[in-house]
Amino acid sequence: MDGDKGLVALSATVKHFLSQPKKALIGGKWLAAQSGKTFDVHDPSNGQVIAKVAACEKADVDLAVAAARKAFDQGPWPRMSPAARGKIIWKIGELIYHHLEDLAQLESLDNGKPIAVARAADVVLAADLFQYMAGWATKIEGHTIPLSVPYTPDAEYHAFTRREPVGVVAQIIPWNFPLLMAAWKLGPVLATGCTVVLKVAEETPLSGLRLAEICQEAGVPDGVINLLTGFGETCGAPLAAHPQVNKVAFTGSTEVGKLIVRAAADDLKKVTLELGGKSPNIVLDDADLELAIPGAASAIFFNHGQCCCAGSRLFVQEKVYDKVVEGVTKIAKAIKLGPGLDPNTEMGPLVSQLQLDRVSNYLQWGSEEGAKAMTGGKRRGERGYFVEPTVLVNTHADMKVYREEIFGPVVVAIPFKEVDDELIRRANDSVYGLAAGVFSANIGKAHRLAARLRAGTVWVNCYNIFDAALPFGGYKQSGWGREMGHQVLENYLETKAVCVNL
Ligand code: ADP
Repeated sequence: MDGDKGLVALSATVKHFLSQPKKALIGGKWLAAQSGKTFDVHDPSNGQVIAKVAACEKADVDLAVAAARKAFDQGPWPRMSPAARGKIIWKIGELIYHHLEDLAQLESLDNGKPIAVARAADVVLAADLFQYMAGWATKIEGHTIPLSVPYTPDAEYHAFTRREPVGVVAQIIPWNFPLLMAAWKLGPVLATGCTVVLKVAEETPLSGLRLAEICQEAGVPDGVINLLTGFGETCGAPLAAHPQVNKVAFTGSTEVGKLIVRAAADDLKKVTLELGGKSPNIVLDDADLELAIPGAASAIFFNHGQCCCAGSRLFVQEKVYDKVVEGVTKIAKAIKLGPGLDPNTEMGPLVSQLQLDRVSNYLQWGSEEGAKAMTGGKRRGERGYFVEPTVLVNTHADMKVYREEIFGPVVVAIPFKEVDDELIRRANDSVYGLAAGVFSANIGKAHRLAARLRAGTVWVNCYNIFDAALPFGGYKQSGWGREMGHQVLENYLETKAVCVNL
């Protein structure tokens, strides 16, 4: 927060990358927006412009979808041997590792996340995702099915299923994990032999652009990956509604998720969604507090609370409530805020002025409705989009801060008496169902709770553990379908039944 002293110096390659005009990738060529328009990308730690990127709109969407269509209908990609595709996908992972430091610098600069986190988590998880998906390219199999057709008793059939790529995919991603979200989306598209138009978030387009270059370098044929930079309404909306798109995969807010479903409805495109959350994290009185207190803090403060799965409702059993709230508050107070590129930073700025305004509004509403901040509760400084890590108590289930996704470093702490049906009811009392946490030394209780929580992921004695092999996604209004694991392949595959009369 004290100026730009002590920041990691950007590498020569990152400086060079930033100095080049930022265009869209369409059919293997880097093109300016058809309108010639660009928009500014900001460093969230100080609001300064770091790049100008193409402001793609409907005309660019049309070109990109046509390129993806051509690559799918006529190009080599869907017909290439699975092993050859797998090798290219593996190579993307290798190149990400090779460029780890550059990608981490770009991500930290653009999004504001601490460089150490970008290095250890975002970039590595992105590389691993591609390498995990590379293995799946050769393992997408159908079944043979014995038939007993009652009205042709004398006939013999050979019946089987083929798994085929769904076709041209439109993908729209958010700004909280820009590189990783692009990897989660592109990996399975490539493994299944689809082609894609990916729109990255307007706040954080840089690492996605660099990733698209890496994919080209790895040998992904022209037109298979098309990447657009642009705004939601003018670029995302025409992409989601495009008649030549077979499937839309979206990650972002539940509000926009509903718009995507409507946009895709006219021609019944397949849709998968990874949306918001208000996840309960439950600490039982038998929990190891040495684990539970830092666990509860990182559940909400990781990535500045800008995680769809953030543990934003912290339920704590009465006997240990004061101790846990005190412990989390102490951690929150000690968190070092600063620019992502400062190696000492533990929490960076929020991503944008808009996000700062949204979180500030929630803090204001919380205080008006009677919530008490044990720590935090306001913006930090005048420069950049910093918000203090905040622990709210004295909340109740009707408050906005209790019910709605804040997407910032703000947790509400809620006491409970017993591990009973009432606790389960309260924990599940949300329109969302993305994730949940349980901290307990009693493995039986933890398992029983895990089974009854209506959420796509339950972490027990840990939180925010991600792995390319572990499916992730939501119940209720947190989404449709799963990311990662072999489950994600379903999002991009059709099943064809073939029946041969022998
Ligand atoms: P946030 O509000 O946190 O930025 P959004 O859900 O608005 O989250 O954004 C996630 C992604 O959805 C971004 O890439 C954004 O440009 C895109 N988006 C926003 N509005 C629309 C829309 N109406 N149609 C398609 N995409 C959209």
